[in-house]
Amino acid sequence: MKTLRLILGDQLNPNHSWFDDKDKNIIYVMMEIRPETDYAKHHLQKLLGVFGAMREFSNYLKNEKHTILYIHLNDPENEHDFSRNLQKIVEKENIDKFEYQEPDEYRVDEILKKASKNSGVPVEMVSSEHFLTKREFIRDFFGRKNYLMESFYREMRKKHNILMKSGKPVGGKWNYDFKNRKKYDGKVPLPQPIEMENDLSEVYEDLNKSGVAWFGAAKADSFAWPLTKKQALEYLEYFVKNLLPHFGTYQDALTGKSETLFHSRLSFALNTKLLHPMEVVNRAIEEWHRRKDEISLEQIEGFVRQIIGWREYVRGIYWAKMPEYERMNYFHHQRKLPDFYWTGETKMNCMKQAIGQSLKSAYAHHIQRLMITGNFALLAQVHPDEVDNWYLGIYIDAFQWVEITNTRGMSQFADGGIMATKPYVSSANYINKMSDHCAGCFYNPKKRIGEKACPFNSLYWNFHMKHEDKLRKNPRIGMVYRNLDKMSIEEKVSIQTQANKYLENLDNL
Ligand code: FAD
Ligand code: SF4
Repeated sequence: MKTLRLILGDQLNPNHSWFDDKDKNIIYVMMEIRPETDYAKHHLQKLLGVFGAMREFSNYLKNEKHTILYIHLNDPENEHDFSRNLQKIVEKENIDKFEYQEPDEYRVDEILKKASKNSGVPVEMVSSEHFLTKREFIRDFFGRKNYLMESFYREMRKKHNILMKSGKPVGGKWNYDFKNRKKYDGKVPLPQPIEMENDLSEVYEDLNKSGVAWFGAAKADSFAWPLTKKQALEYLEYFVKNLLPHFGTYQDALTGKSETLFHSRLSFALNTKLLHPMEVVNRAIEEWHRRKDEISLEQIEGFVRQIIGWREYVRGIYWAKMPEYERMNYFHHQRKLPDFYWTGETKMNCMKQAIGQSLKSAYAHHIQRLMITGNFALLAQVHPDEVDNWYLGIYIDAFQWVEITNTRGMSQFADGGIMATKPYVSSANYINKMSDHCAGCFYNPKKRIGEKACPFNSLYWNFHMKHEDKLRKNPRIGMVYRNLDKMSIEEKVSIQTQANKYLENLDNL
């Protein structure tokens, strides 16, 4: 009996039980196909990273004496279609059974369901053995109630006995977020980010030859992101040793002095499954146990919450709400994304820094994504499709299950509040408080109207005036409306006039 097993580009887990036995009658297949390069316009580093890691994984399996068929981008036999490639192999190799691991993306899930029907052999979908929860967990856990992340997170802590003592959270509190909101003040030296030096010149040539469109910069012959399990573990070690002691404290900080601050940059290795979430959490907790004098509880709790809380939570929301999720547009926003999202050429210093670094490194940390680029897109009333498309392309860690929930849900509130209890918007006040960007900016963070008034200010108040019918009743933003109520009609009209001037000239800001 001959079995064909498909490994997708984000299923690079060498510890999957599939690989426990070596069997000549099992053929593994991996394929580089154009629909996967073209479903969004991607950053060059994302294309290089995924194909580079796939090729490394295929080499690893070969070395481990597994049988692997690797279909390269420019192979003449490549049909650039999961179904047709699979059918060809089934016929050529006399395959009796086809197996695949559950895909994380709805799009791929649908494609593989169809491919399975067309394969002409029995098919089995198995677990990817990566996540701590099943696809349906969030839907079943919450039923019709609100999808509150905090309740889910506490359940995960209890279920997996993480940072728990005698059934209670270690330290007495579940969440130390209130301690983790410090501006970067320069007191702790900023470490240099860890970087690999992978040579991906061949992948780069293949991408060029095949005419795949991309954007952004990359050093193909010295590629920084981890492509193998060994390299991913080096990233993890670097994080726990050097960054974890300050991870929580500066989690929300923004600075022009560093692209990464104390963030882990583990998302690519996690999302391609080179690392398992539990492996990451356990290693971090082990380091915390060893160095409790240097690593306080709020650092480790903050980190654990991102991995077993947010990451699993957004995946659950995705599977509970797709495919309708990708059509949600609660505010009916229709604008195009300003051109500077693709060039970084804007006078707004905070935006210039966040976009410029994203184009350069295919990375921005959470607060840059949420409170700078996402914040601006929402205030500028950009269509969520445009925003999603940008986030899906630009970040090396962007796979739809985690991208769309964060973008359309958390950042754009296009789901009307499934993910977030209020829209994450702010005026320049917050950005000035949390960053050093405003000091060197063309715009004045203190001004709402007039020349050089920071666009975030008038757009912020205009957003709340425009969507008053949808937002006024939200208890979490009562203060905003109390402040608006104190403004004179003339003041409100001037703000709206200023905002409209900016909205009509977004590309020139
Ligand atoms: P760290 O700050 O070091 O956090 C550690 C890990 O926790 C991350 O590697 C990640 O796996 C996990 N994590 C933290 N926050 C989240 C979150 N909100 N959702 C899911 N996992 C989380 N993350 C992606 O992995 N892919 C995306 O495409 C993506 N798009 C985003 C779009 C927007 C608009 C926003 C606001 C957030 C997005 N995120 C996305 C979540 C988060 O910003 C990134 O996971 C994080 O910045 C990755 O950098 P890091 O590894 O240094 O994270
Ligand atoms: Fe950003 Fe406004 Fe500050 Fe400039 S003044 S950096 S545009 S918040």
